[in-house]
Amino acid sequence: MNDLAATPIEYLKGVGPQKAILLKKELGIQTYGDLLFHFPYRYVDRTSFTKIKELQYTDNHVLLRGKIDQIRETGKGRYKKLSARFGDESGYIELVWFQGGKWIKDSLKVNEIYHIFGKAKVYAQKWSMPHPEMTLASSQNIRNGFFPIYSSTEKLSSKGLHSKGLEKLVALIIPQIGPAFPETLSNHICEENRLISKKEALIKIHQPAKHTDIQDARIRLKFEELFYLQLELLIRKKLSASRYKGFVFNEIGTLFTTFYDEHLPFELTGAQKRVIKEIRKDFLSGMHMNRLLQGDVGSGKTLVALMSMLIAVGNNYQSAIMAPTEILANQHLETLKEFTAGLPIKIELLTGSTKKAKRTEIHKGLLDGSLHILVGTHALLEDTVQFQNIGLVVIDEQHRFGVAQRSKMWRKNKQPPHILIMTATPIPRTLAMTFYGDLEVSVIDELPPGRKEIKTYHRYEKNRLQVFEFIRREIEKGRQIYMVFPLIQESEKLDFHNLMDGYEAVTRAFPLPQFKVSIVHGQMKSDEKEFEMQRFIKGETQIMVATTVIEVGVNVPNATMMIIESAERFGLSQLHQLRGRVGRGGEQSFCILMTKIELSKESKKRMQTMVNSNDGFDIAEVDLQLRGPGDLMGTQQSGELDLKISDLRKDGAIVTMAREAARQLINDDPNFTKNENARILKTIEVILTSKPDWGKIA
Ligand code: ADP
Ligand code: MG
Repeated sequence: MNDLAATPIEYLKGVGPQKAILLKKELGIQTYGDLLFHFPYRYVDRTSFTKIKELQYTDNHVLLRGKIDQIRETGKGRYKKLSARFGDESGYIELVWFQGGKWIKDSLKVNEIYHIFGKAKVYAQKWSMPHPEMTLASSQNIRNGFFPIYSSTEKLSSKGLHSKGLEKLVALIIPQIGPAFPETLSNHICEENRLISKKEALIKIHQPAKHTDIQDARIRLKFEELFYLQLELLIRKKLSASRYKGFVFNEIGTLFTTFYDEHLPFELTGAQKRVIKEIRKDFLSGMHMNRLLQGDVGSGKTLVALMSMLIAVGNNYQSAIMAPTEILANQHLETLKEFTAGLPIKIELLTGSTKKAKRTEIHKGLLDGSLHILVGTHALLEDTVQFQNIGLVVIDEQHRFGVAQRSKMWRKNKQPPHILIMTATPIPRTLAMTFYGDLEVSVIDELPPGRKEIKTYHRYEKNRLQVFEFIRREIEKGRQIYMVFPLIQESEKLDFHNLMDGYEAVTRAFPLPQFKVSIVHGQMKSDEKEFEMQRFIKGETQIMVATTVIEVGVNVPNATMMIIESAERFGLSQLHQLRGRVGRGGEQSFCILMTKIELSKESKKRMQTMVNSNDGFDIAEVDLQLRGPGDLMGTQQSGELDLKISDLRKDGAIVTMAREAARQLINDDPNFTKNENARILKTIEVILTSKPDWGKIA
C-alpha cells in the first residue's frame, strides 16, 4: 500500500519542520492524510454573478460582473479614500479602498470588464463594497467556482497558513490521492445508497465545481464514518453475545403466574406486555442479555423489572435491582414488597447506611440462597456482596452509573447475569443507535390508561402571588405539592441560600398548623432525608421543598403540582424528569416553570418546549438540537466517537441508512467471505484492533 496518507506533513512542499510543528500543535495535523481530512467548514460560492439591482442585506460574499467608469480620491492623510464607480447593466455600486490608494489607483482599468468579489454594504443609503477582490475578465487568473474555507488559527495565519494557505497545500496532495486513499465501501453499498467513490468524495469536498458536489461528497464521507461506527457496534454486539453464554430461564415459574393472575392490580399496557415478551425471549435464547429499557417517567418500568425478576427467581436464580440514590432504592423496596405481599419471596434492602448486623444477615441470605431479590444502591457493587446464584441484574436510571461500575456486576457469578438497564431519559433514536448500538433496546411508548396530560405553565416572579394562590387551592382539594430548587455545584452556597429563602417564603405563606412543609436537600443526613421524604409520602406534609434529589423515580400519586424554581437553569431532560414526579394518580396535574424575566433564546425555547409537549421523545429531540450529543450523552462518551464530519444533530437520516447497510452486510455475509466485502473487512479489522475491548464491559 502506498503510504502517502501517513507521510509526515513536513515533507509537503511549502511546509517544512517549523510549520509542521505548528500544524500539529494548532490543528493536530501530522500527516498528508490528516490534512486531507481537515475538511472545509464552508464554501464561498463564486459560480454565479449577482446583479447589482438584486443585492441583499446579507453577510455573504457576492460576485459581480461589470465595469468601472469613474475613479475618485477624497480626504487627506489618514482619511484618504479611493473610490470607483462600478456598474453592470442593472445599476451601480461604489468600490472603496482605505489603504494602498496609489498602487490600486494605478492598476485599475476603466471600461474593462471585471469580476469583483466581496461583501456589499449599504453606506449613506448607497451600495458599496470595501476592498473588493478584482480580476479582469480577460485575465488568466480568473477563479470562479466554489472555494473552500478551512478553519485555521491566528498563529497559523501569521505563517501564511490561513484558509487560502491550507487550500494551496491541499491542492498539492489532491493529484496524488488515487491509490493512497483506496475505496473502503463495497460497490454494492455505494450503488444501493447512491454514494460517490471515496476518491471522488475527497476531491469534491476540497474542490467542488458545483453545489451538488459538496452535498455528494459530504454524504459519502459521513456515510462512511457512520457505517463503520455502526458496523463496529454490531460486530461487538455479536461477539459479546457469542462469547458469553446466558443463563436459560426455561420456566415462566409459578411465582410469575401467581403474581400475574392474583396480585397484579391492573392490566398491563400493550407496551409492557411487548417488552416482557422481548425479555422473556432473551431469557430463553441461551445468550447473554444486555438490554436497555427506555420508557418515559411513569410508564411502568418498575413493574416490568419486577416481573422479569420473578421469572429469574422462579428459575432458582437470584436478582438484584440497583438504583442511583438511597431514596430511590427505598422506594423500590416499598413498591416491590407491596406488589409481592403474600408471595413466597424474600426481598431485602442494602445501602450505605444499612447497619452492620443487618448487613451480615443479608450477606448470609445471599450466600445460602434464602434471599431472592436484593434492592440497593451502588453498595451492591462491593466485593463483599456475594450471591449464591445471581441470574439477573436490573439497573435503574443508568445515566448515573459509569460503564466500569456496571461491569462489576458481571463478576458476581461464574457466568455473567443478564443485564436490564432502565432509563427514563428518552434518548433520540439517532443517539440510541450510536451510543447503545451494542445493546438491545426495548421501548415502553405508552402510558398506563387514565393518565391526564400534565398542564404546564411558564410564570415569572411577579406572578408569585397567583402561583401561591394556585397552590393553596390544590392543597384545599387534598393534594400535595413539590417545589424544586436548582442546586448546582459551582454556586452551591448561593443556591443553598435560595433554597432556604424559598423554604422560608413558603412556610410564611403556608403557616402551621393548617399547613405542613417538608424540606429535603443534599446536605442533610440520609436518615433525616428519609424521614422527611416519608412524611411527604404518607401525606403528613403537603408541600415538599427540595433540590433535585427528588429528580428520579419518587412516586407520590397524590402530588399534583410541580413548581420548578429558576427553571431556566435546568436542562430540558431534567425539567421533563422533574415534571414526571406529578401526574401519577388520576387527578389533573400541573407543572409551573418559574423563571426570571430576561431569558436567553435557548432558555425560552426550553420553556416553550415544556409548555407545548408532554412527550419525552419529542423533548429529547429538541434537547439534542439545542445542546448537541456531547452535552446530552456526556462529553466523555461522545468524545470517544471522534466524529470528523458527521453531526448527530443533523445526520439522523444518514445514521439510519448506515445502520441498515451495516445490518444487511452482517446478515448477508457474516464472516466477510465474499470478495466484494474484502475492503470492508480490512478496514473494520483495523478499527476493531485499535480500540479497547468494550465487549467485556457494557
Ligand atoms: P417508571 O418507573 O417507568 O417511571 P413506575 O413503574 O414507577 O414508572 O410506574 C408509575 C406508576 O404507574 C406506578 O404507580 C405503577 O404502579 C403504575 N402502573 C404501572 N403499570 C401500570 C399499568 N399497566 N396500569 C396502571 N398503572 C400502572
Ligand atoms: Mg422508575
